[in-house]
Amino acid sequence: MKAHDGLYIDGGWRPAAGTDEIEVVNPADEQVIGRVPAGGALDVDTAVRAARAALAGWAATAPAERAARLTALRDVLVARGDEIAETISAELGAPLAFSQAVHVGVPVAVAGSYAELAASYAFEEKVGNSTVLHEPVGVVGAITPWNYPLHQIVAKVAPALAAGCTIVLKPAEDTPLTARLFAEAVHEAGLPAGVFNLVTGLGPVAGQALAEHPGVDLVSFTGSTSVGRQIGAVAGAAVKKVALELGGKSANVILPGADLARAVGVGVANVMSNSGQTCSAWTRMLVDSARYEEAVELAAAAAAKYADRIGPVVNAKQRARVLGYIDKGLAEGARLVAGGTRSPREKGYFVSPTVFADVTPDMTIAQEEIFGPVLAVLRYEDEEDALRIANGTVYGLAGAVWAADAAAVAFARRMDTGQVDINGGRFNPLAPFGGYKQSGVGRELGTAGLAEYLQTKSLQF
Ligand code: NAD
Repeated sequence: MKAHDGLYIDGGWRPAAGTDEIEVVNPADEQVIGRVPAGGALDVDTAVRAARAALAGWAATAPAERAARLTALRDVLVARGDEIAETISAELGAPLAFSQAVHVGVPVAVAGSYAELAASYAFEEKVGNSTVLHEPVGVVGAITPWNYPLHQIVAKVAPALAAGCTIVLKPAEDTPLTARLFAEAVHEAGLPAGVFNLVTGLGPVAGQALAEHPGVDLVSFTGSTSVGRQIGAVAGAAVKKVALELGGKSANVILPGADLARAVGVGVANVMSNSGQTCSAWTRMLVDSARYEEAVELAAAAAAKYADRIGPVVNAKQRARVLGYIDKGLAEGARLVAGGTRSPREKGYFVSPTVFADVTPDMTIAQEEIFGPVLAVLRYEDEEDALRIANGTVYGLAGAVWAADAAAVAFARRMDTGQVDINGGRFNPLAPFGGYKQSGVGRELGTAGLAEYLQTKSLQF
């Protein structure tokens, strides 16, 4: 167990104002692996003041120099990749190979993309007799979840730095050690003091203080829809800009022309990776009546293969929540074909990879975000029925369609969702990511993600 002192404010590690701490637990063995300060409103205030003081200088720094700092940050993340991956595995529970490839690999790519964008983006453009300046929004309050601890941080901090904003980050309680490593990386990369600040702490204390702080110009939040709604209300009342990346309940639509075995195999892998704790996971699989039973069998067999390799969910509360949804699925009449509530191991917050068949669109497990390794397989009669089911939740974050290409694209155009993978299309770190409907407001990644941190000024000549 290691005690980690201090909050990273104004270019150095400073003691928190209070003595409260957060215990960090390894969800694979339930051991306490560290403690970090639980910062409060006073700490948030100090951090916001530091970010405000650094704003004018960083905003006026040439984009080429901002790009150079981002390249340096990317390089430190690469150099310390093993240490970061081990830390993510320890505090989140992700298998090490997944931590290396995804939890570290994706943010390295995203940081690199913003180093390039900072250098190449047109921060000034001519429109008729006007010159339009794309200027930094100001001080950013960033609040992130635990499920992709480094990625969620980099997806906010890298574009904010590229834009010329300064930042105060409040990371999730469960994964503060990754955030501390990120702050060390920022320091090593030579970012000026105050440009990036880290306050670890509890959501309703430090997070709320950050969202409410009058010195914050933009609140960028990733997390649950319920907390996002509160943050949106606070920001709205203060006429403050806000970006919200929220929950999802995405549909994996397998149309009659699709390669069923591949579509089911990739679909199950998508749901089980990161123990089902992925906001954009395709947790509803939609299959036509003719091939429904075959798909259910394939899905059950595929899920069983993950039984020995899946990591735990993040904490005891999350496991209880996931098991509660499995009970609810059974109570509402869904047919359990893999997994269930029995714990696969003696220690650790493990949940068996679970598949439900005979799920109908009105069931709780077809409507609510479970955030665990639980797949619902639904039956549709025809394409219109599939579309109705796919669009029939309050969410709209992601989705997948499998069919002959033209049919898949035609279907994807009618989906109310922010991202659709066609026939297993690969993740693209430059493509805008974000939600329709209650999955959020705003976009991350690529130029759309950069634009969130910019505001425009028009000069007329
Ligand atoms: P959460 O909403 O509980 O917490 C997210 C962050 O908000 C944490 O840092 C937390 O401390 C903070 N927080 C909690 N209460 C707060 C308050 N009152 N004021 C200010 N901050 C507060 O979510 P979580 O359980 O950490 O993460 C899981 C959720 O995140 C899921 O719903 C998932 O879908 C969502 N998510 C969405 C995306 C996306 O891009 N759309 C990505 C990842 C996760």
